Amino acid sequence: MKLVDPKIQNPALRLVGAQADKMNLECYVIGGWVRDLLLGRHSEDIDIVVVGSGISLAEAVAGQLRGAHLSVFKTYGTAQVKTRDIELEFVGARRESYRHDSRNPIVEDGTLEEDQNRRDFTINALAICLNSDRYGELLDPFGGIQDMADKIIRTPLDPDITFSDDPLRMMRAIRFATQLGFDIHPDTLDAIRRNAERINIITKERIADELNKIMLSPKPSIGWYLLDETGLLPLIFPEFAALKGIETVEGRGHKDVFRHTLQVLDNVAEVSDKLWLRWAALLHDIGKPKSKAWDNEAGWTFRNHNYIGAKMIPRIFKAMKLPQNEKMDYVIKLVDLHMRPINLIEDTVTDSAVRRLLFEAGDDIDDLMQLCHADITSRNQQKVERFHRNFELVSRKMRELEERDRIRNFQPPVKGEEIMQLLHLEPCAIVGELKTAVKDAILDGIIPNEYEPAKEYLLKLAKEKGLL
Ligand code: ATP
Ligand code: MG
Repeated sequence: MKLVDPKIQNPALRLVGAQADKMNLECYVIGGWVRDLLLGRHSEDIDIVVVGSGISLAEAVAGQLRGAHLSVFKTYGTAQVKTRDIELEFVGARRESYRHDSRNPIVEDGTLEEDQNRRDFTINALAICLNSDRYGELLDPFGGIQDMADKIIRTPLDPDITFSDDPLRMMRAIRFATQLGFDIHPDTLDAIRRNAERINIITKERIADELNKIMLSPKPSIGWYLLDETGLLPLIFPEFAALKGIETVEGRGHKDVFRHTLQVLDNVAEVSDKLWLRWAALLHDIGKPKSKAWDNEAGWTFRNHNYIGAKMIPRIFKAMKLPQNEKMDYVIKLVDLHMRPINLIEDTVTDSAVRRLLFEAGDDIDDLMQLCHADITSRNQQKVERFHRNFELVSRKMRELEERDRIRNFQPPVKGEEIMQLLHLEPCAIVGELKTAVKDAILDGIIPNEYEPAKEYLLKLAKEKGLL
């Protein structure tokens, strides 16, 4: 089959083909780029397989492409040619054989077919020839085109061997199913179940990469349900697996937190592409199993689950090799605060309480409200609408107070340094107490968020305490 897609008429790819002709080498563009071309998806890196030396072809191509930058990785036998608008990765065709006791395969030079055999899925094994006489010829040894039409993820060879050789492929299967909205072929899915335990030999970093790709997909719950069905979930993220199931006492069950959480995640994904907001959605109820209690009057309770959950996150992020930086702090903050807006929807809510939430959430207040809207998953449609309406009222109140009092990025107008100067104090606990008292007075609306009134208030407090 010959491809006539205009993207394959790329002048840089033509040049690669012409150069390969001159050097008497066969060469193909292969893998993800071909898949994405046929699926109409955007794809960055172009992988080129050369039957022979990938590096020597890359060197020759770099010499002819205007503004090209060449990087050679001798130990891997690969080379990269980069220009302003294209990135080409060159590698020699290779054969891989795995031994059960080692993660690293034995790699030898091979044919194109052998190179296609080592690929993970039929849709990732497609190659397009770049040599002039066969330019655009598509090589599809495993029926990848048909699987694309049928929306199927399937390994080219025996799935037990494919997954046992490189268990990360199990994560990749689930990731592609989620990104593309494809089904995993039943035989492939069964093999994941059988080989799930082998995921333990894969580094946490590589697993985290796949999880982030699942999280950034249009409907991330697909991936998490598949991880659960295949038995991978408790191995890679036991705290999340612990949300599964419903306990019943005296005929009363609680909501299945696992399903609820995945609904919240999908709701967030519909309105935001932010990766860490999506993680906050996934983790917002992670503290529920630990806080669950049965009360004869109240029924099931999850007291302080937001707080308990927020405290669990550093350990989870560390174990899963997720970032230990301001991204984690953001997730912790949202999980900690996620119950606050719901407590603000009663009529009696004070300006002070709204100001405090604005102060604590700061610039993340809009994300927090998106999470809270997404958290409403009742099957009772009237109830859902009532909650959304109430949240709108809270948001309006926040906007009004923010406009008036500018609380969101609030910095106390009187700084600690100044307190020490004014009152002739050395650094001590009293300075902190006075600072907090001024901050509280502003949040409680006792004084406006301005310098002069704050200073006056401070001096009054100091007098009362006998400091002046
Ligand atoms: P994406 O770029 O979206 O992560 P991709 O399929 O392009 O997806 P890459 O990591 O860029 O993934 O790999 C390029 C190609 O290399 C794949 O399409 C596949 O043919 C092959 N490949 C990558 N990882 C593996 C693996 N673990 N096992 C077998 N083949 C793989
Ligand atoms: Mg790729």
